[in-house]
Amino acid sequence: MLYGTASDISQQILRTDVAGMPLEWIDYREAARLYHSEQVAYSCGTRLYTVFGGYSAASGRRSRIDVNSIIATEGTSQGLTFVRDKYIPPLNNRTLFKRDANLCLYCALRFPTRDLTRDHITPLSQGGKDVWSNVAAACRRCNNYKGGRTPEQASMQLIAVPIIPTYAEYIYLKGRRVLADQMQYLLTHIPRSSPLHARLTDHLSDNDSIFDEI
Ligand SMILES: [Zn+2]
Repeated sequence: MLYGTASDISQQILRTDVAGMPLEWIDYREAARLYHSEQVAYSCGTRLYTVFGGYSAASGRRSRIDVNSIIATEGTSQGLTFVRDKYIPPLNNRTLFKRDANLCLYCALRFPTRDLTRDHITPLSQGGKDVWSNVAAACRRCNNYKGGRTPEQASMQLIAVPIIPTYAEYIYLKGRRVLADQMQYLLTHIPRSSPLHARLTDHLSDNDSIFDEI
């Protein structure tokens, strides 16, 4: 049985390693399993769910697990630390559009995800690669207009530098709906120099609760 203080049971939980480095998003079932198998070292953030299990034959009491929005789990992740420093996240449209805040990086207007496309800044036909640093969210109109040209050839200008997300940034980008306390936590792992840092800080001061996806 499950009681939630979260707005719905699909709210994801941020899992970190014991040193507090963000690892991944998990759902309440996975979190309950980690609590149950005593792999949770400590938790932060706010309580999202209370999961009730069976009654103990010995004590007659019912097991109860409080699941928080951020949980740190045991185990070493040295291998991961090594990987994380050189990590290049996989490229996909959902995270790309979120990186660019659902703005077309040419006309600077905001679009719903379905109306955005992945533009190759240097077109594939001119030897451009399908990598984070060569892609931008673009509306259909701008992408059509640009066609097989580079921004210079088309006399267009990008409004932002197409960054390669760090590991922590990628975790943020992958989050479906990131709570304010989770956002705050992730921010401490995102470099101040990152354009995402400024954007997330603005978000936090605008809205103290939940950030919905567009
Ligand atoms: Zn546009």
